Amino acid sequence: MVYDDSADVKEFEVGQAFHDSRQFKQALVNYGLKHFKHLIFPKDERTRVLAKCSWIGCPWSIYGSLVPSRSEWFRYHNVHHCVPRRNNKLVSSTVIAEKYFREIKDNPGWRIEKMQEAVVKDFLVDVSESKCKRAKKIVMERIVDGTNGEYARVYDYHLELVRTNPGSTVAVTLNPDVTDRPVFERMYVCLEGCKRGFLAGCRRVVGLDGYFLKSADIQINNQGDGCVVISDQQKGLIKAVSEIIPNAEHRMCERHIYANWRKQHRDKIFQKLFWACAKSSDTIQFNYNRAKLAQKRPDGAKDMMKTAPAHWCRANFRLGYYCDSVENNLCESFNNAIMRAKKFPVISSMEIMRSKVMARIPGNKAKSQGWHGTICPNIFKKLKLNVKRSNICTVLYNGDEGFEVQEGEHRRCIAKYYNQWRGKRVGQ
Ligand SMILES: [Zn+2]
Repeated sequence: MVYDDSADVKEFEVGQAFHDSRQFKQALVNYGLKHFKHLIFPKDERTRVLAKCSWIGCPWSIYGSLVPSRSEWFRYHNVHHCVPRRNNKLVSSTVIAEKYFREIKDNPGWRIEKMQEAVVKDFLVDVSESKCKRAKKIVMERIVDGTNGEYARVYDYHLELVRTNPGSTVAVTLNPDVTDRPVFERMYVCLEGCKRGFLAGCRRVVGLDGYFLKSADIQINNQGDGCVVISDQQKGLIKAVSEIIPNAEHRMCERHIYANWRKQHRDKIFQKLFWACAKSSDTIQFNYNRAKLAQKRPDGAKDMMKTAPAHWCRANFRLGYYCDSVENNLCESFNNAIMRAKKFPVISSMEIMRSKVMARIPGNKAKSQGWHGTICPNIFKKLKLNVKRSNICTVLYNGDEGFEVQEGEHRRCIAKYYNQWRGKRVGQ
């Protein structure tokens, strides 16, 4: 009877046949792993394999030989006098790589401690950090090996995307500095479904970062009318935006601006004052917050104007975009989301992103199905709070376009463009 690889690990018996000594050895290793026995192989050759239990005093042994000298070819003493081994050396980095191939592939950031816990759970073995790291490396190498030819097939992928998603924009460019052979440089993909979805239901807000600009040509019609672009402060990017989409509102990521500004103004208390300026929702508030900063740090108030506040202060953002973001969080979270994908060659990388987007859309759709009305839940919560809070507010009208609102005893504010706001700020 020939030993069956695919079946569960079985006990051995005299008379069993194996294809070769490798299959025999693998069966022994599987047996050791399953029963927590550390087997050693004093003889491990093409024609014969001798295995013993490594526990001192344990009589278990097995011998198999290719040469059928009848008396010799299979000896088996199936008695253990040992304990389950937590130091079973059969649990090698290859075994770990094999067992957790999927887990590692799907989550290369899997923490080593977590991997060690899994190994104890499945194999009852304490493995070293370095063994886990080696296992990780084996998996990653195997994946990259399996995807090596991807760059040669990038045009096939291009055609396949366009064939299966008609209307999509796909562009591949080659490195222009290398002329003797084609060398992949960048790829831009905008799937038809995403494109239509963006135009039909999304706010016209685009986050740009250096990475994006390097990898895509911005093709926005009508010079960016009705668009908001949020970017960092790279010179090339600023220039490109002002040339290609001069009508777009160009916000610059407040976090980058603050990081620069902070070099001269390190104190923690300045930080709060700085951000209060950025998040001021009208010019009066902005001037007030900036004056407060100037009292503590005159230079700081001056330095912050090095970048025109039109680019970074909420008070200056145009109405109607329904986005009050002063930071480029869009890009930060996108970059974070594609972290795993970036480790792979081009097609695998694109496919990981594509499947992610595909799963995300119905996920979000399902979530929003539970919403009531047209205002999303977080904003609705704020709205309810504010409406409630208005019970202590009184409004005075100046007969023209100005209002004075008093809240309780002390707080007063002037709402100058109330009518305009009522139409637009509500709902933003
Ligand atoms: Zn034993």
